[in-house]
Amino acid sequence: MSKLEIRDLQVSVKLPEGELKPILHGVTLTVESGQTHAIMGPNGSGKSTLAYSIAGHPKYEITGGEVLLDGQDVLAMSVDERARAGLFLAMQYPVEVPGVSVANFLRTSKTAIDGEAPKLRTWAAELKGSMEKLGMDPAFAQRNVNEGFSGGEKKRHEIVQLELLKPKIAILDETDSGLDVDALRVVSEGVNRVKDTNDMGVLLITHYTRILRYIKPDFVHVFVAGRIVEEGGPELAQKLEDEGYKRYGADAEAAV
Ligand code: ADP
Ligand code: MG
Ligand code: MG
Repeated sequence: MSKLEIRDLQVSVKLPEGELKPILHGVTLTVESGQTHAIMGPNGSGKSTLAYSIAGHPKYEITGGEVLLDGQDVLAMSVDERARAGLFLAMQYPVEVPGVSVANFLRTSKTAIDGEAPKLRTWAAELKGSMEKLGMDPAFAQRNVNEGFSGGEKKRHEIVQLELLKPKIAILDETDSGLDVDALRVVSEGVNRVKDTNDMGVLLITHYTRILRYIKPDFVHVFVAGRIVEEGGPELAQKLEDEGYKRYGADAEAAV
């Protein structure tokens, strides 16, 4: 049983001139094993800032609050330590990694997280099985990470990472953007499957209600202008689908 606690988190983005622009104004949220939380909000509301802050991106400065994983201070950890502690951030490795194949990348990540190399034979079978379930060509494992990947391939690669690295809590930012309906279904099923198999907690960040037809959230948090403005169950996602963000005020409306 794991728990990610975000308590009164306040974050500013570092502007090029060295100034700080406050984005998150006190965010409190707890995600436990086996739960799916959706954060929904208009563009520019700070959703990615929340994800990047937890990931330890240097562009963001934490000005208040705390983030704990099973009581451990996440904000004091290096990016590697966060991964070893069991946090997965989908945007953690968005860049191309020239000369490193998917297979090598996954094995290296797994070794770094577990502190020992996975057994070769079971590992190969696991990788093959995971890729098959996502309808991926086995040749994909030999391609260089993110080099020329389509949107769907990037997302499938993320699901393979989830399945093999087995994080305690996964933060998935805009997992649905750039996916056609078939890819969306495959990726969503993958998230659901890994969540159920590994009792993973999921924090799913999205602008759209579309993915929530496939990934049923236990909790929905509406995010506007750097704050959670409403919380509820899955019915809240339906309400947002019907009514949009307008009723949260001019800020939300302008930003959609
Ligand atoms: P979301 O993911 O909800 O669309 P973001 O976290 O990407 O929102 O952005 C939140 C706010 O932070 C936006 O108003 C955006 O303009 C601002 N922001 C992010 N990065 C910078 C930056 N480098 N300079 C100025 N403003 C920024
Ligand atoms: Mg955005
Ligand atoms: Mg975003």
